[in-house]
Amino acid sequence: MSSIIQLLPDHVANQIAAGEVVQRPASVVKELLENAVDAKATDIKLIIKDAGKSLIQVIDNGVGMSVTDARLCFERHATSKIRQAEDLFSLYTKGFRGEALASIAAIAHVEMKTKQGQEELGVHIVIEGSKFVSQEPAVVPNGTSFAIKNLFFNIPARRNFLKSETVEQRHIVDEFQRVAMAHPNIHFTMYHNGSEMFNLPISNYRQRIVTIFSGKTNEKLVPVKEETDIVNLHGFIGKPEFAKKNRGEQFFFVNNRFIKSGYLHHAIMAAYEGLLKDGAQPSYFLYLDVPPHTIDINIHPTKTEIKFDDEHALYAILRSAVKHSLGQFNVAPLLDFDRDPNLDTPYQYQNKEAEYPTIQVDRSYNPFAEDKPNPSFRSVSYKKTEVQPNWESLYVGLKQAGQEIAEMTFENEAVTSSLFDDTETEQEVRRTYQIHKKYIVSPIKSGMVIINQKRAHERVLYESFLTNMTVHQAVSQQLLFPLPLYFSPTEITLIKELQPALESTGFLFEAVHHDHILVSGLPVNVAESEVSIVLEELLSAMQDEIPSQSFSQNDTIAKSMAKSLAIKTGTYLSGKEQENLVHNLFACKEPNVSPFQKPTFITMSVEDLDKKFSL
Ligand code: ADP
Ligand code: MG
Repeated sequence: MSSIIQLLPDHVANQIAAGEVVQRPASVVKELLENAVDAKATDIKLIIKDAGKSLIQVIDNGVGMSVTDARLCFERHATSKIRQAEDLFSLYTKGFRGEALASIAAIAHVEMKTKQGQEELGVHIVIEGSKFVSQEPAVVPNGTSFAIKNLFFNIPARRNFLKSETVEQRHIVDEFQRVAMAHPNIHFTMYHNGSEMFNLPISNYRQRIVTIFSGKTNEKLVPVKEETDIVNLHGFIGKPEFAKKNRGEQFFFVNNRFIKSGYLHHAIMAAYEGLLKDGAQPSYFLYLDVPPHTIDINIHPTKTEIKFDDEHALYAILRSAVKHSLGQFNVAPLLDFDRDPNLDTPYQYQNKEAEYPTIQVDRSYNPFAEDKPNPSFRSVSYKKTEVQPNWESLYVGLKQAGQEIAEMTFENEAVTSSLFDDTETEQEVRRTYQIHKKYIVSPIKSGMVIINQKRAHERVLYESFLTNMTVHQAVSQQLLFPLPLYFSPTEITLIKELQPALESTGFLFEAVHHDHILVSGLPVNVAESEVSIVLEELLSAMQDEIPSQSFSQNDTIAKSMAKSLAIKTGTYLSGKEQENLVHNLFACKEPNVSPFQKPTFITMSVEDLDKKFSL
């Protein structure tokens, strides 16, 4: 048989390599920014259009390239950063593979302008899909500008695979922030679709972090510092009371390169042990400088993992340094472990008369009628029944739920109806009992029902938010003075995007500025003291993906707000509150599951009980 092996042409090899290096627009951003940093720039601009799908441009004032280098840099394995294998062990640059530009040029239209300081003229090169289109001398500033247009123009599968603009933009911002945080000595700016998103002047590490994550970050930070033979550690950790619900503010940099490490993360969590509420995530911004020969970065081109020579020692150093800082800055003793939080008055109730939640009850409704729930009762809870068509689709399985409620008739007509008389007195027979501040138990005709109070309340709130949003009739409580709330630029972008949906729940925004918003109205069931937590949790729920359809956006918002605002396990409920909850739950369209599809109640029949006793 004849020989069949051939060497792949360069442009094919480059396109294949691009599959590894360039997964999405954000990968290009990372490579270009890192090249600009390696070129010793002190000013780097990132310009993005349509989340990088139409344009990614990076302009730096670095050393620039000679005409020959300008041409060579697009060749595979063309790098100025290493010359021999040993150089890999003393690497202080970000790049060294010489793959990025060749890969990017294989799958996009690239325009490059570059000039070295000592030259009169620079060069302007255009490449499309690995093919040189033009090369001309040009009058350009010192430094280099790369403009990448029509990314993936020749790989439609990749292009179609890209996520929504919000998601791609989010990835780009992540990469931008990581590089910017590692280099406070460089002035970074970022523009998206013509407007400035970040302007980060040359500063120190602390200021850089604060500028990126908004002014409120400053008070949260505690410095960390430790110098040893194997690592120089510096940076900041967040005070425990500011811990977040998500891991959005956790950063390790090794030799000024952002890395991920589950192992080192564990060391930090160990240092915070006992200081955090369940599931809370501390913020950290930690910079580790290690001798380059003690790490192996010769891994996958885009991976952010790294191998250390002496991981165990690093773990121990990190943990003790963080612990020390937490202690030294008097953070730990503030926490009083003996206090039972259940005994505290929730902040928003302090100095307030206790009041019953309002309920909507149709007094003519007889829950013990044998047939289906009375339509007039429904219409009280859900003022409009002519809802938009997609509203109903949420409630697949509705029939089933309806049947279950219909079957779950309460035991004794006389007692139940009297519960809702205004003249109710202490002596009346109680029909609900709270156990362990967690469940509400109530007898029903067939036996008993046990309701999970938190999940039940989530369901009630969720449906009420969703109703408001779908029929656009949310009621707002106006605030006397607009409430300023501070957010990072990324969060502000999210808020802008969600603004119409949030307003349909009852929020009113007097203004949305680049680093803060002014809230002038709140949904009726949100207290002023709860706003910031509600919005923060909402943003963190949205962080990974904002659903593009407004319908699912509403759903996500309603879910998140219901979760934030629902009474928690461990909250005491008065008899009246218990009853309200039970009745509101069973007035829901889908009472049997929480918005997160967990059961809200279980029933136990008398036979079940009998069986238990017959043993
Ligand atoms: P690597 O960064 O791994 O060396 P790249 O393909 O990213 O590979 O870049 C190839 C070479 O092009 C670099 O080694 C550098 O010499 C040159 N280069 C790339 N970007 C710039 C820039 N912004 N300024 C100056 N030189 C650059
Ligand atoms: Mg590079």
